[in-house]
Amino acid sequence: MIDFRYLAQRYSTPLYVYDLDHMTKQYEALKEAFKARKSLLAYAIKANSNLSVVRHFARLGSGADCVSIGEVKRALLAGIPKYKILFSGVGKKDEEIREAIELDILYINVESEAELGRVEAIAKELGKEARISIRVNPNVDPKTHPYISTGLHENKFGVDMESAKRMYITAKNSDNLDPVGIHFHIGSQLTELEPIREAAEIVADMVRSLNAIDIELKFFDVGGGLGIRYDDEETIAPYDYAQAILGVLKGLDMTIVCEPGRFLSANGGYFVTKVLYEKINGEKRFVVVDGAMNDLIRPSLYNAYHKVEVVGEKEGEKTPADIVGPVCESGDFLAKNYPLPPLEHGDLLVLHSAGAYGFGMGSNYNTRGRSAEVVIENGKDRLVRKRETFEDLIALEKEFLED
Ligand SMILES: *Cc1c(COP(=O)(O)O)cnc(C)c1O
Repeated sequence: MIDFRYLAQRYSTPLYVYDLDHMTKQYEALKEAFKARKSLLAYAIKANSNLSVVRHFARLGSGADCVSIGEVKRALLAGIPKYKILFSGVGKKDEEIREAIELDILYINVESEAELGRVEAIAKELGKEARISIRVNPNVDPKTHPYISTGLHENKFGVDMESAKRMYITAKNSDNLDPVGIHFHIGSQLTELEPIREAAEIVADMVRSLNAIDIELKFFDVGGGLGIRYDDEETIAPYDYAQAILGVLKGLDMTIVCEPGRFLSANGGYFVTKVLYEKINGEKRFVVVDGAMNDLIRPSLYNAYHKVEVVGEKEGEKTPADIVGPVCESGDFLAKNYPLPPLEHGDLLVLHSAGAYGFGMGSNYNTRGRSAEVVIENGKDRLVRKRETFEDLIALEKEFLED
């Protein structure tokens, strides 16, 4: 049990709290599921990129999947070795590609023929051979929210199988490219196994056809996307997930790379916010809190559900209320029609499953400093990011003020 009242008193609100022990359990469960093969779990840094969280995964032996050179540097700073770092993403800048090659990370996940050309040219300038993997788009419907679906041709990610094959041949014939892996990532918050199995099978067939023309790849990168329980959804057990992938790899001697983000960190995270006021507009009940869409945007962006816990015993009947923040947008809500007991100024609400795509998607909209972040490990709490102050928010502008 986490003592949210004590944490709110000690660190103030709004506040992010991360239970590192839960994250350990998730990591160990997934690693164990793949034990029949060599595997690398490359934590998707974007899910929760706090340095102390990333260091925690580094200590467990995790690698990192990064989608900007900033994330690559974060991973290195947190102690993840370069040979466990991948660089993915649909729009890498030349400077980012250059730095990734110079830093000698495990491989770059290339997402288009044009990008392959840039990687080759930059590697040539540097007199190096860049290790690459190609992100293929298997055109499988992952059956998740359209904003987090990536595995269909209508999405911007990856390349179709035909183009991928041409790209592997180009890479194989280049002095500056070393094709070492194949990658797919069909979406996020996946709760159905069949699309994953189907995608893995399509990609495994591709590997076999590449082997037939003498292109041997070492890494079979299945991306991330494993779903978690926000409410009462059925999720995929790590064992079944791993079995579905292992099942299609028969006869292929490859290391499995998996890039979980949400699965590792989401349910270890909590967003703690304090009630400011209750108000009724006609029939509609609102609970106004000190946290807002700039802190946790998932409800506004995806209509996402987060379970809400009221801290302490409250008297009275539960009635539906919208939990809203102070930001000047009608889209600023943390929950809609959520059954809540009567609340008073100072009561605490805790939004669950906030450890992934929470703080990291935050902003300073409305000149609101971002929350502090705290971790709990072995029952002890410690601050891992300070609350942003007004001075922090204006630091990059102040010097340009004219008289
Ligand atoms: C976002 C992302 C992930 C992680 O997704 P989760 O749903 O958080 O597991 C993995 N790989 C790539 C390429 C991504 O863009």
